[in-house]
Amino acid sequence: MTIVGRHCCNILILIALLMASCGIESSEDGNSKLAQNWSKHGFTDHEQRFSPLNQIDDKNVDRLGLVWSFETRTYRGLEATPLVVDGILYTTASWSVVFAIDARTGKEIWNWDPQVPRSYAYRACCDVINRGVALYQGKVYTGTLDGRLAALNAKTGKVIWEVVTVDQSQPYTITGAPRVIGGKVIIGNSGAEFDVRGYVSAYDGETGEQLWRFHTVPGNPSEPFESPALEKAAKTWSGEWWKSGGGGTVWDSIAYDPDLDLLYVGTGNGSPWNRHLRSPGGGDNLFLASILALRPDTGDLVWHYQTTPGDTWDYTATQHMILADLEIQGESRKVLMQAPKNGFFYVLDRANGQLISANNYVPVNWALKIDEQSGRPVEAPGSDYRSGRVTVKPGPLGGHNWQPMSYNPETGLVYIPAQELASSFAQDLSFEHLPGTRHLGVDLGVPESPAEVPSGYLLAWNPIEQKEEWRVQHPGPWNGGTLTTTGNLVFQGTGDGRFVAYRANDGEKLWEMWAGSGVIAAPVTYQLDGVQYVSLMAGWGGAYPLVSGGPATTVSPPVSVGRVLTFALDGRLTLPPPAKRQQPPSDSLSLTASAAEIEQGGRLFSRWCDRCHGPGAVSGGLIKDLRYSTAPVFDMYPDIVLEKMLEARGMPSFKGWLNQEQTELIRSYVMKRASELRSQGDVQ
Ligand code: CA
Repeated sequence: MTIVGRHCCNILILIALLMASCGIESSEDGNSKLAQNWSKHGFTDHEQRFSPLNQIDDKNVDRLGLVWSFETRTYRGLEATPLVVDGILYTTASWSVVFAIDARTGKEIWNWDPQVPRSYAYRACCDVINRGVALYQGKVYTGTLDGRLAALNAKTGKVIWEVVTVDQSQPYTITGAPRVIGGKVIIGNSGAEFDVRGYVSAYDGETGEQLWRFHTVPGNPSEPFESPALEKAAKTWSGEWWKSGGGGTVWDSIAYDPDLDLLYVGTGNGSPWNRHLRSPGGGDNLFLASILALRPDTGDLVWHYQTTPGDTWDYTATQHMILADLEIQGESRKVLMQAPKNGFFYVLDRANGQLISANNYVPVNWALKIDEQSGRPVEAPGSDYRSGRVTVKPGPLGGHNWQPMSYNPETGLVYIPAQELASSFAQDLSFEHLPGTRHLGVDLGVPESPAEVPSGYLLAWNPIEQKEEWRVQHPGPWNGGTLTTTGNLVFQGTGDGRFVAYRANDGEKLWEMWAGSGVIAAPVTYQLDGVQYVSLMAGWGGAYPLVSGGPATTVSPPVSVGRVLTFALDGRLTLPPPAKRQQPPSDSLSLTASAAEIEQGGRLFSRWCDRCHGPGAVSGGLIKDLRYSTAPVFDMYPDIVLEKMLEARGMPSFKGWLNQEQTELIRSYVMKRASELRSQGDVQ
């Protein structure tokens, strides 16, 4: 490496880089290039999302501005972390479409549309999203919503190989970004809201050959177990769990420690959610809601840590994991940090999975504490919903969801996109196992207490002292992932459509700009031709607006076209202002159904429709609000619901699950809601 020009800065960058990337495999191009690119999902295998670049810092960030904007031509959620290598930005949009973009100008170089069947909109629990690609030796690796893994030529976007990683007759999806470890492509999948069995696989990066697969939950014990670990895990289950898959999907978080040669994956919730229906005799149900350390060469399990034994609240441990070296009680410890959905921040010894400490980072009422001796939560009396309806904190969207957090070794703080979204749980008394349908065993509701207001904030957490250092309150929950830099900065987009820079040590807001849309993705930064850039996907969506309906629209602006936004000092571009909200139609609807029929229709709606169309038929904005339909659309309900009239737009046929009479009841219910909208306005 030749040090020229800004010696001081370059040396600082180098030192910071060495700190940030200790242990990452060395590149023939040297460390300065690694610092200037953003070549891996979490910046390095340690997934800290901490950049040593400092051209943009807390003194000059007020000069930041937009230099280019690229439209993804999609109107659903954008969750990807772009990768930027040698001046090309690689990212993914809704429906698993991959884009290669000139990082200097924002001009498209190529795109690859995997042509995912639109019926997958129903199979995906949480929007038709994708979290990005992996790059390795001239290839772009990407998962598709219908369960494929593809290797593309990074220069042309042409497919080199493509494999199907799932049984496509089952409701598996892929939304997570692959990682490449020593030439092996690691990929998991989603689907535990339905009835699948989770696993993570490794494929040969050159050929696409499957090298190993680790199932995260045991299968039918009358058949041979795939691994000794699963034979042991089966002792923690009861009943006939395998008939509904068991869940435990590896749908997002992956990290790697090259020194220990351990691959870490987080596993999801059980299928069904309700443990009493899933495993009636009790048990921890390994390896649900767990962090697993695997050997990347073989997929063998080395250790596990289960965050929520016997999970029954959708408390996935698939949230972002960060590897760091922390000084704890005078000793340097190799730790793994995670803030999973269950509301506790965990610091583990990543060599052996032992708990070092845990404390709640948001209000929690399902557990009293994590016992430091046993490493297990002490469940709170009253969190079991078998005997009646209870309010549970956090709710199923978690105190923190997939939105990446970041760790700044200079401030010692972890920046968590935290949220408070309590939920009301009751046992679903009408539960039956219907393969391929939503599969919870829970009757979910909104908490009755007016004190339980949805809330979101940027939380700066001290992982050594396990306490909050500062927070910035946002207007609502479901905000973007974070990026931190050696310029003493934290960047975060917000659900109300701003992109904001804060001073990393104290949370002072230093700069913000309208982002054209609610933001959920995490930004990245890189340097090209001596200029530091920050890039961000801006596209509102994901689980919260899809499943929460109306409340999601109170803060977020109307959905706009998705964009990749790129910022640098003295950028001058602006974005169009938010679209106006739609006015209700002025026609009148003739509703003839009785009150009892409408009530029946409402129950059917919440069983079959509200996961996408929102509770009470109030859309969260991603999908057209059904109450705004005009009379001719209501006339088409039999064709829309039972045939495949709108399949190309993501509406599957419900034939086989619903009959003509039930469709008519649902139609009556939605017409009633539409009439209310016309007479009362949009009061939800
Ligand atoms: Ca889940």
